[in-house]
Amino acid sequence: MGAVSESGTNRAFNLLTLPGDGIGSEIIDETLRVVAWFSDYLDVPIDIEHDIVGGASIDEHGVPITDAVVQKANCADAILFGAVGGPKWDGLPRAARPEMGILRLRKELDLFANLRPAVNFPEIVAASSLRPELVESIDIMIVRESTSGVYFGEPRGIETNEKGMRRAVDTQAYDEAEIARVCRAAFEIARRRGGRLCSVDKANVMETGALWRTIATEIGQDNADVELSHMYADNCAMQLLREPKQFDVIVTDNLFGDILSDEAAALSGSLGLLPSATLHMADPERPKRALYEPIHGSAPDIVGKGIANPLASILSFGMCLNYSLRNSAAADLLTQAVRRVLAQGFRTADIAAAGEKAVTGSEMTDSILAALNELAEDSPRMMEA
Ligand code: NAD
Repeated sequence: MGAVSESGTNRAFNLLTLPGDGIGSEIIDETLRVVAWFSDYLDVPIDIEHDIVGGASIDEHGVPITDAVVQKANCADAILFGAVGGPKWDGLPRAARPEMGILRLRKELDLFANLRPAVNFPEIVAASSLRPELVESIDIMIVRESTSGVYFGEPRGIETNEKGMRRAVDTQAYDEAEIARVCRAAFEIARRRGGRLCSVDKANVMETGALWRTIATEIGQDNADVELSHMYADNCAMQLLREPKQFDVIVTDNLFGDILSDEAAALSGSLGLLPSATLHMADPERPKRALYEPIHGSAPDIVGKGIANPLASILSFGMCLNYSLRNSAAADLLTQAVRRVLAQGFRTADIAAAGEKAVTGSEMTDSILAALNELAEDSPRMMEA
C-alpha cells in the first residue's frame, strides 16, 4: 500500500523529517527505526528526506525555517517533527526565535486542527499526579484550533501610551469559517471514537466564545449522530481534574486548547509519552498536509545523554499511520507494542519510579521492535489501507 497519487497509481509515501534541536535528532533517529519496520511490514515504500529547522536553521541560514523547507513540507505527505529551541537562542527577539519555525509551518501549511490525545497507559498509572482510579484508562482527544485566535490576531504589540505607560495588546478574533472547519473535523473524529464531542468556549464573557458556540451548534445539526455538549473553559479545566473520564473528544480554540491540552497531558503522567498531530483536515479521511510531533520540547538538560524517551515521537508516527497512511490497524499494533514493553517493565528515566532500573532511549526502541515482531507473528499482515 503506497500513497495513492491523483492519477490513481501507487507511489511512495514522502516523509520529511525535521528533527530540530536538543533531543530532537535523538528521538527522530529512534522513530525512524520504527518507520523502517512498518515500511517493511506493510510493504509501503517510504521516501524519507531530512532537513533542518529551529535553532539549527538559525545557525546555518539565519532564520528559523527557510522558504525551501516550507516548500518541501508543502509537498511532503507528512512531516515528522522533533522539537526546537534551547538556551543558545533564548536571547533572540521573539520573531527570530526557533519556535517561529513551527508557527510558520502551521500557518503556511494551514494545519488548523491540532490533535492531542491524553491517554493513560494502565501500565504506568502511578506516574500520574492524580489518583489511579481517576485517570486509569482515560482516553481523551483534544482538538485545538491552531492557525488563528489570539496567537495570530492583529493588532498586537506593546506601545507606550500618552501617560508614558507601556500597554500590551493581543487580539482574539475568529471568523465563522475558521470555527466551522475545526468543529467539522472534531465531529468526524468523535464519530470514529466514542461519539461524544464537548465544545469548549467562554461564550458567557467573550464575543468569540459566543460565535464559537453558535457555529458549533449549527455544525452539530448536520452531525446529529454525535452527541454535542458545551462547556465553559474554566469549568473544563476543573472537570479534567475532577472527572476526566467524562470526556471523549474536546474541541476548542487556540488559547484554551493550548492550556487544556497541557493540563490533560499531566493526567497521562509523562511528557515523554505524549504524541500530537496537526492536520489540514479538509477531508478527515485524507488530510493533505500533516505534521506529527511529540508534545515535549528539546529537553536541553538531557541532550546527548542517550536517555531521552522516544515513545512520544514513536507514538506520533502511530498517529501518522492512522491519519496519513490511513491504517488504524497498524496504529493499534504500535500502541499494543508500547503497552507490552511498559507491561514488561521497560522504563526510560523519565517514567521510572525511584529505584527502578532505567533503559536508554535506544534500548526502549529495541524493545518496541522486539514487541512488534512478536505481535506481527500473532496477527496477519495488514496490507490494506
Ligand atoms: P521540555 O519539554 O523540553 O522539558 C521539560 C522537562 O521534561 C525536562 O526536564 C526534560 O528533560 C524532560 N523531557 C522532555 N522530553 C523528554 C523526553 N522525551 N524524555 C525524557 N525527558 C524529557 O520543556 P522546557 O524545558 O520547558 O523547554 C526546553 C526548550 O524546548 C525550550 O527552548 C522551549 O522553548 C522548547 N520547546 C519546544 C517545543 C516544540 O518544539 N514544539 C515545545 C515545548 C518547548
